[in-house]
Amino acid sequence: MQLTVIGCWAAYPRQDEACSGYLLEENETRVLLDCGHSVCSKLGQYAGIDDLDAAVISHYHPDHFVDLYALSHAVRSALFRGIRKNPLQLFLPGDTHVFDYFARKEEVQVHEIKDGGKGQAGELSLEFFSAHHLVPGFAVRASSPRSSLFYSGDTIYNENLVKSSAGADILLIETTMVEAEQDFAAKRGHMSTRDVAAWAHVSQPQLLVATHFWEGYEPQQVEKELSASYNGNYVMAHEGLRIEI
Ligand SMILES: [Zn+2]
Repeated sequence: MQLTVIGCWAAYPRQDEACSGYLLEENETRVLLDCGHSVCSKLGQYAGIDDLDAAVISHYHPDHFVDLYALSHAVRSALFRGIRKNPLQLFLPGDTHVFDYFARKEEVQVHEIKDGGKGQAGELSLEFFSAHHLVPGFAVRASSPRSSLFYSGDTIYNENLVKSSAGADILLIETTMVEAEQDFAAKRGHMSTRDVAAWAHVSQPQLLVATHFWEGYEPQQVEKELSASYNGNYVMAHEGLRIEI
């Protein structure tokens, strides 16, 4: 499996960059995890619209889903022009007007995400676990026969989620705030570097990929804290980062 970071910013992106968007590839299978601000535009650098099998939305905050509207139009256009043969498989949290909106679209085939639910996107198996954020949301484990990745989505530290991530080769984890903002992070449904280090100490991934950075911090500041509190392998997400799992 290959992970490519398309965007790594929380809330709003830096100039010419994107919010949450991660491309997973396994042979001919391509799955997009989250589709925040500017991800649809950036996606073209890494995969064609005709190549994308599925998209997964962790929750309905704009930095994770708002470019889905653009993406669905692009898929619709590709189908119309015969560039694409099949609708996009779309894994979404339910019970919202957004879910209902996309469920009516012919260019996508919608699957509702539930806690403990499973899905299949080409050669990748998906499992979903409830996250703990300001709105209902989900973490995702994506597995191929050879490797696996666990994506936290946006969440506070939660022992059940930590357990669910055990054994994943890659832990792609929101690292939104610095340690001094620990209490504020928890109130906003996010984690600090301290939470992330504690999580990774338990789940023991081969590689931690820190992401979802608050634009007001310099990632170097976040990295400095992470390197002081976590002694395993880690990398800071940035656009274009490609990792072979
Ligand atoms: Zn977010």
